[in-house]
Amino acid sequence: NTTANANLFSRLFDTLDDPNRLAIEMLDGTRISYGELIARAGQMANVLVARGVKPGDRVAAQTEKSVPALVLYLATVRAGGVYLPLNTAYTLNELDYFISDAEPALVVCDPSKAEGIGAIAAKVKAKVETLGPDGKGSLTDAAAKAAAAFATVARVNDDLAAILYTSGTTGRSKGAMLTHDNLASNSYSLVDYWRFTDKDVLIHALPIYHTHGLFVASNVTLFARASMIFLPKFDPETIIKLMGRATVLMGVPTFYTRLLQSPALSKESTKHMRLFISGSAPLLADTHREWAARTGHAVLERYGMTETNMNTSNPYDGERVPGAVGHPLPGVSVRVTDPETGKELAREEIGMIEVKGPNVFKGYWRMPEKTKAEFRDDGFFITGDLGKIDDKGYVHILGRGKDLVISGGFNVYPKEIESEIDAMPGVIESAVIGVPHADFGEGVTAVLVCNKGADVTEAGVLKALDGRLAKFKMPKRVFVVDELPRNAMGKVQKNILRDMYKDIYSKH
Ligand code: ATP
Ligand code: MG
Repeated sequence: NTTANANLFSRLFDTLDDPNRLAIEMLDGTRISYGELIARAGQMANVLVARGVKPGDRVAAQTEKSVPALVLYLATVRAGGVYLPLNTAYTLNELDYFISDAEPALVVCDPSKAEGIGAIAAKVKAKVETLGPDGKGSLTDAAAKAAAAFATVARVNDDLAAILYTSGTTGRSKGAMLTHDNLASNSYSLVDYWRFTDKDVLIHALPIYHTHGLFVASNVTLFARASMIFLPKFDPETIIKLMGRATVLMGVPTFYTRLLQSPALSKESTKHMRLFISGSAPLLADTHREWAARTGHAVLERYGMTETNMNTSNPYDGERVPGAVGHPLPGVSVRVTDPETGKELAREEIGMIEVKGPNVFKGYWRMPEKTKAEFRDDGFFITGDLGKIDDKGYVHILGRGKDLVISGGFNVYPKEIESEIDAMPGVIESAVIGVPHADFGEGVTAVLVCNKGADVTEAGVLKALDGRLAKFKMPKRVFVVDELPRNAMGKVQKNILRDMYKDIYSKH
């Protein structure tokens, strides 16, 4: 597993047949061909090397989504560096943690943040360069004057290509070390699995600091020599317009629920599209069905994580099961184990999802103990997600281990109750959490978001659930709110909800 010259991007940069083929398009009409993209990555790689970036060095980037920001990623990996993107929402206080943790050789940021970040970078002796959303900055200025020719730096499969911090949904973000082999194996297999060709046009409305927008969306498009339309942010009306000439949309579930609110979404407006993909958080079975009824397309749901890239996908040709995340990708093994004993469970039994394969990361950055604790002796990674494999071989995610509710000694899987509530008239979505309870340990608690004007009450919900759920699974309280707390990737932050409701069962 240590082939020389295994740089992930050798194939992308060194085997270009048609330099005029379109790679990226911006909403303002800017069009960048593959020839130009490769030339720009060469120029930027030359600048990185001139600034002292050596193979294995981290290049941290907090940059707005733009073509130069994507070029920086390509250039870093091409130069043998380790790309380390940072969420654009992070404040200086948060950046201080990440930059001190990662000790990059170079930090690239927006010109407006250069001063604050400069002070942080100085502590770890990192250089600072700027790159703005309009493409202006010290790094891009220097790159424009640099030579385009660049010899892609040879790496072995096991060398790091990137460190990505997890979304921090369940606690402090951890740096996941991803190798060239991790990223390459996933990119190539997804091109095949999802039938990407150079005729595809992807609507890219995801951030590029996260595994979904950077590795799944961008890598798959580039390795297929397809093209992508880069949107700075999610905007339903723009996306529906683009569907008239694009072929694929990759999104998080909130994209689909918000698109469904637009009257312009129809069979007609989606007839040019061949594929709708959802991931990063659970897609409600209801949303899946509503989407199919409105557009005639079955959304293809898949399951991945920062640490493992992509694990499973619903099939391209076979049935795309609502509420399921599909089958393991070729070369990836998924099993379900008893969380206590680690013993493998049979089909349909609920337990901990574990994953092994070339997609699985090398470990958490500077957390050897944590890394050791999350792997079994036979190499399986313990994902922290609970779920099952059904008797047809489809994987189902039932929520995170940390979100499991234990009430009166019984395990309550939030998703089971959420599915019942979500199907009720007037309910848009729900989150079921466990809240400290003097008698039961945790009290099952449901938090709902409803349609405006819908007549959904606590008593009504409890009445509707009565007889459908075992007594121990019944919510003790039901709350209706305007919206659920979500992070940048659209994931519901149950830890925030638990904190909001932590005192409701305490005896005063
Ligand atoms: P942290 O690990 O820091 O708490 P995070 O787990 O949200 O944050 P990511 O790596 O971005 O960080 O997310 C991976 C997780 O997202 C998975 O472990 C799983 O819980 C969830 N997830 C991803 N895709 C799906 C899906 N299709 N259905 C249900 N859950 C999903
Ligand atoms: Mg996680």
